Amino acid sequence: MINYNEILEKDELGRDEIRELLAMSFEDAKQLFKKANEVKEKYVDKKTYFRGLVELSNYCAKNCLYCGIRKDNHDLVRYIVSDEDVLKSVRFAWENNYASVVIQSGELQSPAFTKRISSLIAQIMEMTKGEIGITLSLGEQTLDVYKEWRELGARRYLLRIETSNRQLYAKLHPNDELHDYDRRLQALRDLREAGFQVGTGVMIGVPFQILEHLVDDIIFMRDFDIDMCGMGPYIEHRSTPLFKFSGSLLPLEERFFLTLKMIAVLRIIMKDINIAASTAMQASDKLGREKALYAGANIIMPNITPGVYRDFYKLYENKPCTDEQAEDCLNCIEARVTLAGDSVGWGEHGDSPHFKNRMNSDN
Ligand code: SAH
Ligand code: SF4
Repeated sequence: MINYNEILEKDELGRDEIRELLAMSFEDAKQLFKKANEVKEKYVDKKTYFRGLVELSNYCAKNCLYCGIRKDNHDLVRYIVSDEDVLKSVRFAWENNYASVVIQSGELQSPAFTKRISSLIAQIMEMTKGEIGITLSLGEQTLDVYKEWRELGARRYLLRIETSNRQLYAKLHPNDELHDYDRRLQALRDLREAGFQVGTGVMIGVPFQILEHLVDDIIFMRDFDIDMCGMGPYIEHRSTPLFKFSGSLLPLEERFFLTLKMIAVLRIIMKDINIAASTAMQASDKLGREKALYAGANIIMPNITPGVYRDFYKLYENKPCTDEQAEDCLNCIEARVTLAGDSVGWGEHGDSPHFKNRMNSDN
């Protein structure tokens, strides 16, 4: 019999212990979640911070084999939210005390795109008198572009490594220059150099993934010393090349459960980082985000994309709340946070304490 209590009391976890925790049964995992919740309370407080999510555009130059908005999927309507609508959504977030927004989009590297983002950041900063925190999730860009966006006032960046295993990465992406593992890794380093709070993460339950890959992912995030993490279960999309492997996947409940364990283990190891309860968690379990908060997550990204566009930003199927407006989301989400035993950090940026601690120790 494995003594989980003994493992959970340790100051540092090794590879074997991480594996034991990720393999815990549903019954045993209750101890893991309880411990993660205690660590969360001690190091980042039992507060959930909101980041209003704007899904700026589903145009994408890439062809990740799992993603519903990949370039070669011609089975969807492409859109770009206008500056005016982005500003309207950001104003909604600001006036409702969200304190932060996330601008996410398919990946484009054209100067037209990067310049538009620069202009949007400047407009958002001006409109909110620099009060709102801006997180970007716009894929791989050059160091100069990252620097420009950082200097204009964006403070955080999310770029998932998707998997830290090079071979698995190659199975999930076309093998060309646009989808190169080393390039992705370099982008993460560049983001750090540009001065962003850097977030990364992985998908859980993708075809060909084994438990050992997830152990490596946790170790990767620890060693990279990330400030923030967003992880979610892989959810298949029928118009993607990976869909043909659907029969070989873990059931969605198990992918979800494994994600909860990944969140909890990461919280125990990287005590003061920000961890998101991702939308994909809610898509796979009705109480997914509440459960993620209990297991150690502390960030929620309510969708504030204008309702007309939401149906078209489908990275995966069964995406929740595509028929709602931002106001509906607001009511439902505060209730959900309270249900998980947290309070909402209204009006607070909720920067990653890990980033602050890292900056202090660098100085
Ligand atoms: N284009 C940017 C940001 C948008 S995609 C980028 O790729 O970084 C945001 C995230 O959605 C990706 O990092 C990926 O982890 C996730 N995603 C894409 N397809 C998915 C799927 N089928 N199931 C679950 N998550 C998916
Ligand atoms: Fe484009 Fe991001 Fe989807 Fe890849 S995961 S196809 S980069 S939107």
